[in-house]
Amino acid sequence: MDKYKNFDELNRNEEDDTYSISYEMGSSGIAIITPHGGGIEPGTSEIVKGVAGNEHSFYTFDGLKQNNKCLHITSENFDEPNCVELVRQSDRVVAIHGWKRNDNCLCLGGLDQNLKNKIQTTLINAGFKVVDCPEVLKGEGKKNICNRNRDHCGVQIEISRGLRDRMFELNTKKGRSKKTPIYHLFVKTLREALNTL
Ligand SMILES: [Zn+2]
Repeated sequence: MDKYKNFDELNRNEEDDTYSISYEMGSSGIAIITPHGGGIEPGTSEIVKGVAGNEHSFYTFDGLKQNNKCLHITSENFDEPNCVELVRQSDRVVAIHGWKRNDNCLCLGGLDQNLKNKIQTTLINAGFKVVDCPEVLKGEGKKNICNRNRDHCGVQIEISRGLRDRMFELNTKKGRSKKTPIYHLFVKTLREALNTL
């Protein structure tokens, strides 16, 4: 259960230095985002930045506290205005999330079936283990931030803690500056799927 039901409530109760927001519009019409970056779902912001490269839009909402649990606003309720606007202006959206499980896998949700299939095939071919999403991670709600783009359908990728931990020398704020070959393979693979749309 989230502490805050929307961004406004979070903003009124948390000091400004407990989180940071960064974003930039790209030229491709594709947006890579995480509403749960920094210490909220560790590793997701670094993945977003890598996948976005220079041509895709990116958005990260980063938790900067010791314990960031209270900064988690579920995707259906995440309505930080800069994110909503960036997503609204995008043709396609890929939201990156952290999944709690410790084994090495990911699952794909969201309403953009074509893009989801494409990403799934590309990731499987590169050796990543894709499993079925549990009901709560299917990301099929219209209000889910990944589905608030122009066509009202996007993709969300839930990446297990086990897989994220393998992407960095250490999955801490400092440790994430040293990325492993698995990080680079994941970023390269996802970019390939997006660049051949
Ligand atoms: Zn998340």
